[in-house]
Amino acid sequence: MLVRRAVLRGELPNVRTMKCVDCGARGWYWEHRNYDEPLKVDPVCEPCNRKRGLALCPSVSADVAKAA
Ligand SMILES: [Zn+2]
Repeated sequence: MLVRRAVLRGELPNVRTMKCVDCGARGWYWEHRNYDEPLKVDPVCEPCNRKRGLALCPSVSADVAKAA
């Protein structure tokens, strides 16, 4: 994964040192809002990650729109 590589290269901090942007709890995941921009990520905790649901994926939604 790109995010994992970025963390290893020091481009992103370890998510465990971050606070969840939604509730301020300890970060658990780098959460993607948009898979077309793989390094645009927010630190979130487990419950908030689940609450946010799936990330936006414009290429997939475009296909869905075409099929509709
Ligand atoms: Zn949270």
